[in-house]
Amino acid sequence: MSMIAPGEVWLVGAGPGDPDLLTRKAERLICAASVVFHDALVGQGVLDLVPPHVRLVSVGKRSGRHSKDQTTIDQMIVDAAQSGERVVRLKGGDPSIFGRAEEELSACRTVGIPVHICPGVTAASAASAQIGQSLTLRGLARRLTFVTAHTKAGQVPDLDWSALADPQATLAVYMGKAAAKHVSAGLIAAGLPGDTPVVLVESASLPESTQFRSRLDLLPIAAQTALGDGPAIILIGAAMGVSENAVHARKTDLLALG
Ligand code: SAH
Repeated sequence: MSMIAPGEVWLVGAGPGDPDLLTRKAERLICAASVVFHDALVGQGVLDLVPPHVRLVSVGKRSGRHSKDQTTIDQMIVDAAQSGERVVRLKGGDPSIFGRAEEELSACRTVGIPVHICPGVTAASAASAQIGQSLTLRGLARRLTFVTAHTKAGQVPDLDWSALADPQATLAVYMGKAAAKHVSAGLIAAGLPGDTPVVLVESASLPESTQFRSRLDLLPIAAQTALGDGPAIILIGAAMGVSENAVHARKTDLLALG
């Protein structure tokens, strides 16, 4: 039996770009679909796995000059399911992290369409792998916060900076490129030191990936100069400044302290 019944919808995480980071389940779902609606962020390598008989529809924000708005996308999914298609909605990273999943889930549920989620590797995890560093770290980063700094053009993100300015946390800022100066100013004003380590990772998991190390007070200039057109995530926190050697030294110190 097919993994997807006619009239059923799956929101599938496509991961950060590298097709090898797709789950086996995601790949099986893609092959069982009759139609795949995908975002612009879904990597070409992943789209290449969609079999030729499956209809591939781009609803992405970067792909066309006019992005489809969320209501239109919701409607396209619902229409396809109601006409008996086996629907995969393929989303970059994990569908439940800054992926507008809730809108699509409720659009389906409201009209009685069965809908499920297949998780994916989120950008923060891909970035951690890219730079070879842990996002959490005993004693230095006990908390990991995923936050989006996305705003309507030019606006200051409405974030609770004092809640975010935790020196024992790693902050993974999604969609933060445009708001980098507000992130930097907000966190410093709320008490995070200006020399807090920052790593910017662009196109994590893809061959063209780049990474750039900076500090919180220099983040605005770093975001402006070091980043290209690819998706980028900003990792902020003491744990980001710890190189492999330093971790080793710390461990030895801790052992010596007994
Ligand atoms: N659902 C996705 C996030 C969607 S929001 C996930 O779980 O990863 C889009 C933002 O994700 C981008 O603006 C960027 O901040 C981040 N992102 C997505 N793919 C990325 C990649 N390969 N490398 C770095 N950041 C990425």
